[in-house]
Amino acid sequence: MAVVKPQILIIEDEEDIRELVRYNLERDNFSVSEADSGEAGLKAVLQKKPDLILLDLMLPGKDGLQICRELKQNPATSDIPVVMMTAKGEESDIVAGLELGAEDYIVKPFSPKVLVARVKAVLRRKTTPVAPSGEDVLSIHDIVIHPGRHEVTVSGKPVDLTASEFGILHFLARRPGWVFTRYQIVDAVHGEDYPVTERSVDVQVVGLRKKLKKAGELIETVRGVGYRFKDTE
Ligand code: CA
Repeated sequence: MAVVKPQILIIEDEEDIRELVRYNLERDNFSVSEADSGEAGLKAVLQKKPDLILLDLMLPGKDGLQICRELKQNPATSDIPVVMMTAKGEESDIVAGLELGAEDYIVKPFSPKVLVARVKAVLRRKTTPVAPSGEDVLSIHDIVIHPGRHEVTVSGKPVDLTASEFGILHFLARRPGWVFTRYQIVDAVHGEDYPVTERSVDVQVVGLRKKLKKAGELIETVRGVGYRFKDTE
C-alpha cells in the first residue's frame, strides 16, 4: 500500500528559500509544490488542495496577508492550515495574520529543522480534535480544568481564579502550542464577567501566573505577538 505523503505548498517569490524548504521537506517525506507569487499560490491551492501552506508575507503583487485573508474567507480553502514565513521585525504583520486565521508563523532566517518541526506540529494539531468549548474536563500537564464548575486544580490543589483568569487559562489550554494574539484572547473570553481589554490581558496573565505558581510557566509569552499554552510534546 502506498503511503500518502502530506502535500505542502510553498508560496514564496525567493527561489533560494523555496529550494531550501523543498529540499528539507522532501527529505522528511513530504510532497512539495511551489508558487512564486500570491496569485499563482491561490490557483495552486485550489488545484492541489495541499494539507498545509507555507506562505511568505513579503510577496510582489498581492502580499501574504492579502493571500491569507482570501484563503481564510473562502470556505473551500479556510480549513487548510497556513504557516506564515516572516522577516524579523514584522510582529504587527504576524499579529494581523494570526487574527486573519493563520495557524502559525516562522521567522526568517529559520533553521530547516525548526521549519520541518513546525510543519509537523501544525499538521498534528489539525488531526488532534480540539477539546470542545463546552463542559469537558481538561487535564493538561499538572493542571485540571473543570469548565462546568469553574474550578482549577494544580497537582490536585485547588486554585482560586477570577472568572477572567479562568477564561484565559481555559481558552489557551484547550489549544496547547497555538499562539493567540491579545485581541483573540479578548474576543474569546470577554463577557464572562466584565469586559477584558487587550491591555488587561497582560495584567490577567500576570495574576494568573502568580496563582498557578510553578505551573504558571506553562503560559508562555510570545514577544510582540501574544500568548500560548506550552505544547504537550
Ligand atoms: Ca519574499
